[in-house]
Amino acid sequence: MIMRGWEGNIRKVVPYTPGEQPKDKKVIKLNTNENPYPPSPDLMRAVKEWDGDGLRLYPDPSAEILVDAIARYHGVYPEQIFVGVGSDDVLAMSFLTFFNSSKPILFPDITYSFYDVWAELFRIPYERLKLSEDLSIVPSDYFKENGGVVFPNPNAPTGVDMGLDAIEEILEHVRDVVVIVDEAYVDFGTRTALPLIKKYENLLIVRTFSKSRSLAGLRIGYAMGSPVLIKYLNDVKFSFNSYTLNQPTICLGAKAMEDEEYFQETLRKIIDTREWAKEELRALGFSFADSKANFIFVKHKYCPAERLYSELREAGIYVRHFDQDRIRDHLRISIGTQEEMEILIRFLKEYLSSI
Ligand code: PMP
Repeated sequence: MIMRGWEGNIRKVVPYTPGEQPKDKKVIKLNTNENPYPPSPDLMRAVKEWDGDGLRLYPDPSAEILVDAIARYHGVYPEQIFVGVGSDDVLAMSFLTFFNSSKPILFPDITYSFYDVWAELFRIPYERLKLSEDLSIVPSDYFKENGGVVFPNPNAPTGVDMGLDAIEEILEHVRDVVVIVDEAYVDFGTRTALPLIKKYENLLIVRTFSKSRSLAGLRIGYAMGSPVLIKYLNDVKFSFNSYTLNQPTICLGAKAMEDEEYFQETLRKIIDTREWAKEELRALGFSFADSKANFIFVKHKYCPAERLYSELREAGIYVRHFDQDRIRDHLRISIGTQEEMEILIRFLKEYLSSI
């Protein structure tokens, strides 16, 4: 390929590939770990009653009502909360702010595939540490010198929970750089590392409204940590774009934190369906690490993952396949409604018995 002279000075990156968002509404969408249930009726009402009059004004750059609602919910101070446009924005800002060393940052080899994209974008050296054969993170691998640590708990796309003791073990050994625990899926049955922010000033917890709160379309993510970490994050954010969250999002996001009962009920349904799906998938010859997230990362005993992926797609059921070393033989199946999962299982039963 011919490169023009001016192209030599361009910041070139290989972008992250998000899961597909099909236009066809009839598709059973088990490919992006969204919540299959709608936002709460109270939130839907607030959307309908939204008064657009104030839109001529800029939104509150500090998103105070949203920050306050999140702080209240978690029992921390507003100075301990940073908000952004989905946790992708929060994570990107965190990489830019905290990973500024010449030593490599560390994350698992099988994990959220945006981490290496941000590292490449911001020219941060990085090292991927191999998960064990059973797809768990090995804490002692992270004890070496590094420029920062980031991992999801539970991990994605495996769904494996590493447990608070293992997280604290890492924190005990990694004192001089920032440790980010990406808790995108924590509400589906894992213990949060939040209590540890009191003890470890260098710990940042990142959360999202996209999964457990049924609001992927609104784009809200947040980070929790010591006030000093949050201040550094805000300094970078305000050097980049003051108005990240828009007015409706700030209001609706604050409102969404109020409906605890609906939130818990939705979580319960997803967890019950996940546990049901595990049994069914196992009976069909799938194996998987035990998932604590709203997806299961499965491998079939004889049917190649890519073939299953195409067959499912043909049948209008979208799941995710990663064409990546070590996980090429897996599919990540998000947990849909009970009815959607029953359709999936019925299809798999028929297909696998026909080949
Ligand atoms: N972290 C992990 C581990 C994820 O899987 C995702 C979803 N793609 C995100 C962060 C980002 O989610 P969002 O930007 O919607 O908050």
